[in-house]
Amino acid sequence: MPEEPTEELTYSATKTGTRSILPADMISVEEARERILEQFARLEAIEVPVLDAVGQVLAEDVVAGFNIPPLPNTAMDGYAVRAEDTAGATYDTPLQLESIGYLPAGEVFEGSVGPGQAVRIMTGAPMPDGADSVVPFEETDEYDESDGTTPGTRSEGVWDPSRTSVRIDVEAKPGANIRVAGEDVREGETVLTEGTVIGPAQVGVLASLGRDRVLAYRRPVVAVLSTGDELLRPGEPLAPGKIYDSNAFSLAAQVRSFGGIPLVLDVARDTVEALTARIKEGLAEADMLVTSAGVSRGDFDVVKTVLANEGQVGFWTVRMKPGKPLAFGTFRGANDRPIPHLGLPGNPVSAMLTFELFGRAAIFKMLGKERGWPRPMIRAITKDRIRNTDGRRFYARVFLDEEDGQAVVRLTGPQGSGVLTSMALASAFAVCPEDRDSIEPGEECDVILADRERALYGAAASAAAPGY
Ligand code: AMP
Ligand code: MG
Repeated sequence: MPEEPTEELTYSATKTGTRSILPADMISVEEARERILEQFARLEAIEVPVLDAVGQVLAEDVVAGFNIPPLPNTAMDGYAVRAEDTAGATYDTPLQLESIGYLPAGEVFEGSVGPGQAVRIMTGAPMPDGADSVVPFEETDEYDESDGTTPGTRSEGVWDPSRTSVRIDVEAKPGANIRVAGEDVREGETVLTEGTVIGPAQVGVLASLGRDRVLAYRRPVVAVLSTGDELLRPGEPLAPGKIYDSNAFSLAAQVRSFGGIPLVLDVARDTVEALTARIKEGLAEADMLVTSAGVSRGDFDVVKTVLANEGQVGFWTVRMKPGKPLAFGTFRGANDRPIPHLGLPGNPVSAMLTFELFGRAAIFKMLGKERGWPRPMIRAITKDRIRNTDGRRFYARVFLDEEDGQAVVRLTGPQGSGVLTSMALASAFAVCPEDRDSIEPGEECDVILADRERALYGAAASAAAPGY
C-alpha cells in the first residue's frame, strides 16, 4: 500500500504549473541522495579568519612570500662556533673558546664570530655571522653530568655575563644543529593548494606564513523549521498535550557538526500568509531549508500549502527505516532565489537519520567536500537480533564495542522512530539490508561509524571503508 500518494505530486504540479522532477514511487537511499545532490552546488569563496576555516575547503593556492625559517637558526641551546675551531676537541682534550655574547631567540647578533670565538645561543635564534655550527650545552662545560643542569644558568636563572670562556668537549661538524633557511617552506613555493580541507595543521601552516585570513568556500546557512501545533520551545513551561520541539535542536546541532551554520526559525503554526512571510524573512540568508513534520499526509495543511505555493516540492517514499516519507523540492526565497528544501519526517529519530543520510551530503557538497561525506563503514558481529519487518533498509541504532579483538555491536534499546534516546546512546548504525528479515546474534553486518569518538573499538577501525 503506497503511503505517499501520487496526488501529492499532482497537487504540487498544479500549484506551480511545472512538472515535478520527482516521481512518487519508492526509491532507494542512494537514488534519493543522488537526486537531492543534483540540486546543490559548491558555494562561493569568501575570506574568513583562519581559525574559523577549520572544516572548510581552501579556495586559493597559498604561495609562500618568504622562507620558513627566514634565516638559518640553531636547533639546540648551545654555543655557535666555527667548526674548524673545534678540531681535535674531545672530553679528554677539551679546548677553550672565547665567549663573546649571548643570543636569545628573536634577536639578531650584531657582531661576527671570529677565530677562537663562540656565542651562547638559544634554540630558534638566527646563526651569528661567522659561525657555521652549534655545540649543544651537553658537550660544553655548561652541562653538569651529575644532575643534567647547566651551571651557567642554574643559580640566577640567567647567564652570567662575566663568564668569558667556554670549554668545548667535542668536535663540531659544519652545519651541525643548524636549521637551514627555507627548511620548512621555500619562498615562492605553493604550500597549500585550492581544494585542501583545512584542519589544525593547515591553520598552523597558514599562521606560519603570516596569514590571519584565508579564502575558503563559504559555509552554508541552513534554515531549520519545525512544524506542529503540539510543539513548545525548550524553556517554556510544559503544558498538557504539548511536547518540546527537539527536532529543531537536534537538526541544528547536526547542521553545525556537518560544517554548516544553523538558522532556527520559529515553530510554524500560523496562517498561510503569516507563515509565508515568516519563512521568507527567515530564508533571506539561507542556502537550504530543512523542515520537520508537516509534509506528510496526515498533517495540517499550512506548511504544505506554503511550500507548494512558494516553490516546487515532491513527496518521496524512500526504502529506509526509520524515515520513509521525505519531501524534496525548491522553495523560492527572498528575491525569488531558489532554495533547496528538504522536508523530513517528524519523528525525532527519523528526522535525524534522514538528515544524516541526505543533509550531511548536501552540506558537504556546498562546502566543496563533495566526496567527503560518507562515514567509515566496518564489519561487526551483532550480539542482538536485528529485525527487519518490511523490506526497507533498516538502520539500527547500536553501540560499537570490541571483544577479544572483534568489533561487536549491541542495540541501544527500543528502536522506535520516536525513541530519541536510541540515537543518544548510539555510536553507530548497523545496517540490515532491504532483502533480509533479520540479522541473527553472532552474524556479521555492515556498521556505519556515526560517532567514532564515542565508539570503543580497536583493530576493527583500521579496516574501515567509506560507506553507507
Ligand atoms: P508528523 O510528521 O507531524 O506526523 O509527526 C510525527 C511525530 O513526530 C509526532 O509524534 C510529532 O509529535 C513528532 N514531532 C514532530 N515534530 C517534532 C519536533 N519538532 N520535535 C519533536 N517531535 C516532533
Ligand atoms: Mg504533526
